[in-house]
Amino acid sequence: MTTFELAAPVSGWATPLEQVPDAAFAQKMVGDGIAIDPTSSELRAPCDGVVVSLHEAHHACIVRCRDGAEVLLHIGIDTVNLRGEGFSPLTRPGQPVKTGDPLIVFDMDVLARKARGLFTLMVVVNGDAYAISKRVQDRAVTVGEPLLGLVGIAGPAKEETDGETAERTAILAASHGLHARPAAMLADRARQHAGVVRIALRERSANAKSVVSLMTLGARSGDTLTIAARGRQAGRVALDLANLVAEGLGDGIASVAQERATVAEAGRAREVATLFPANREVLLRGTGAVPGLVQGYALSPIRREQSIPKEGAGAAKERQLLADAIVGVRRDLESVLERVPLAGPGAAILKVHLSLLADPDIIDAAHDAIDRGRSAAWAWQVAIERYASVLSALSDPLLAERAVDLRDVENRVVAFLTRTHASRLPAELPAHAILVVDELRPSDLVENAAGRIIAVCTARGGPNSHGAIMAASMGIPAVVALGEALSRVPNGAPLIVDGDQGAVRVFPGEGTRRATVDEMFRRVTRRETNRAARHQESRTKDGVRIGVLANLGRPGDVADAMGNGAEGCGLLRTEFLFLHRQNAPSEDEQLAEYQEIAKTLGGRPFTIRTLDVGGDKALAYLPIEAEENPALGLRGIRFALRQPKLLRTQIRAILRIDSAATIRILIPMVSCLAEVRAVRAVVEAMIEVPIAAVTTDLLAREVDFVSIGTNDLTQYGAAADRGNPHVSPFSDGLHPGILRLVAQAVTGARTRQRPVSVCGGMASDPRAAALFIGLGVREVSVLPIVIPDLKAFIASLNVPECAEVATKTLELSSGDEVRALLNRTWPVI
Ligand code: PEP
Ligand code: MG
Repeated sequence: MTTFELAAPVSGWATPLEQVPDAAFAQKMVGDGIAIDPTSSELRAPCDGVVVSLHEAHHACIVRCRDGAEVLLHIGIDTVNLRGEGFSPLTRPGQPVKTGDPLIVFDMDVLARKARGLFTLMVVVNGDAYAISKRVQDRAVTVGEPLLGLVGIAGPAKEETDGETAERTAILAASHGLHARPAAMLADRARQHAGVVRIALRERSANAKSVVSLMTLGARSGDTLTIAARGRQAGRVALDLANLVAEGLGDGIASVAQERATVAEAGRAREVATLFPANREVLLRGTGAVPGLVQGYALSPIRREQSIPKEGAGAAKERQLLADAIVGVRRDLESVLERVPLAGPGAAILKVHLSLLADPDIIDAAHDAIDRGRSAAWAWQVAIERYASVLSALSDPLLAERAVDLRDVENRVVAFLTRTHASRLPAELPAHAILVVDELRPSDLVENAAGRIIAVCTARGGPNSHGAIMAASMGIPAVVALGEALSRVPNGAPLIVDGDQGAVRVFPGEGTRRATVDEMFRRVTRRETNRAARHQESRTKDGVRIGVLANLGRPGDVADAMGNGAEGCGLLRTEFLFLHRQNAPSEDEQLAEYQEIAKTLGGRPFTIRTLDVGGDKALAYLPIEAEENPALGLRGIRFALRQPKLLRTQIRAILRIDSAATIRILIPMVSCLAEVRAVRAVVEAMIEVPIAAVTTDLLAREVDFVSIGTNDLTQYGAAADRGNPHVSPFSDGLHPGILRLVAQAVTGARTRQRPVSVCGGMASDPRAAALFIGLGVREVSVLPIVIPDLKAFIASLNVPECAEVATKTLELSSGDEVRALLNRTWPVI
């Protein structure tokens, strides 16, 4: 059994946690520990270990001791609200520390004036593994002197712990890191294995079967994770999980434009100190999360009193009550799940909540509290709060937002146990209700909206919160991160919410109202007109034909694309057929899928890209050696040419499609003619490697058509990993250097009279599409949803004007200058 000591992080008066004026700490929801009323103003490490997180407000950090205990050090009460004022960090996440090393300096004067209290708290957050055996309290202590004694508690070994062991590493491709949805997918898969599975990132290690444990890793896109499995078939399990991690865990790579918008918008929330006297218009600025413009009335949630007994009526009874509540809530969630579109984000979020309900670490922690005499509701709250507070303290805003999901699940179970309403909204919603909340819980919208909530405003949370994603899936305009001022907006106050501009007007004046109504009318009419014309052939104003086709990722996408007016499929990413299975699809299986899509396309062009895997997207049934630099390794056609049987089978299936349509075969990641020649039967090449872009004239001799993949062309042209958010500002497809590559590829193809299309994400941005048209592109393949508006915009363009703008962009010196020129030229889309 491990025993060790934590030293006082500051000098001062050691006080029992129960006396701290903050319920979460006093009730030990965060964990057990001690408070110190400080007399020194430098926070120091209580043990040897590593700093695993530093809150962005610099008032708190977590140190993981060498012995494994995770210790939250929190300076002052409610000091997160100071947003860094009065704190100077001397450390950063990942930094190894020795006992007594300085971590954060704080200004006592600022805290004394602005914080609710000065107590510095030291709390063990993984209390399931460590208990406090000794503590010094109710006396003065000096920084560095032993304060708490900890003892490791060995948990019961439930899993198969012997047999084979295996370890794999994989780069996390999920674009927003290991947040709830990807973590739930990973945990689901890990739970299918009887043995132990752990995932490590730098100094931290998590139980792969626990969603919360995985989330507390704080893993970001691009991090290398180590997957260690033990038990029967450990090798297969480790490889399977490594593949899932590398394939993105179902979390799409955000487009460059989206990434940039998110980075630029983050933290733009401004606090407004003004109160809201009726009849004086006040403008609040936040971050637009879901576009749209509406007028309505503020609706604040109800405060429902829940009386939660602390003491339980015996462990067996309370465990049963908890089990029944979990089953009850699961049934409720499943019935909601039946009512939301299965493929939409709403369903994915509900599945995350279902997975959190079954999380073994949460349930174990709750059982632990029950066994210590607590009631089921109390124990559940404590168990969830322990993880939610660790998540909230993480510096990654996305992971911090997942604490909201945990609390949503917490609330449902507690409401079930205390027989109160889980919803914080009134049963009867007023018409034109605009939900005004501190943070949006997914459940606020799933069950209650019923078409009556017309917009959402939140004080906190970002555009990627699950609440915001849910609002987007329901088409409910939302503005987030409006700041604390929002809490002062009176219930029932008239509001105008502009999700495009990230603005909310409280008590709008008559002039604003009239202008808003006009603008709403204009937007609705324009959208309706565009939709009505979506099936028309796409042409510019001066009559040049521009093909607008759709990018498809699954057979299910095709009907939606056709409904939006797609003129065919410009890119079918066939990976869907090959990933997540134990062996390659047969020729007949592939044919059946392609045939089905061809049938729906009904004679329209059908462009099928051969398998684009390899590198970090390995197939479980075709293992390839680990590569130092997978994005520059065996990818696309390079991989396919090493698997001639696989490629032949796919091409045979494509050639057997029975269709009146032109079937085009697209080869991904071509870099040279030899590759095109090696696939003799193949007739098109995808231009996404810079050397292919500058030699398109040579490649075009032997292909019928080229298609430019701007996602990869930008990644390789700018030497900036498309999945790594830290380098996303460099990954700018509008950089004149990338545009010159595109221009060269277009000219190369046109000198050989080969048609050229753009199928990368940029083409879905109307202004970028106009720029490509100016460069000579006559076909784009885009996200189905943008097709009606894109076609309408194309119809307003004149090709010579596009060409003039395009030529100018090639001479500018940055992506921002190009963007500014495009916005000036086409201010309204
Ligand atoms: C591209 O790289 O632009 C492209 C369309 O291919 P993918 O996004 O599938 O790599
Ligand atoms: Mg690509």
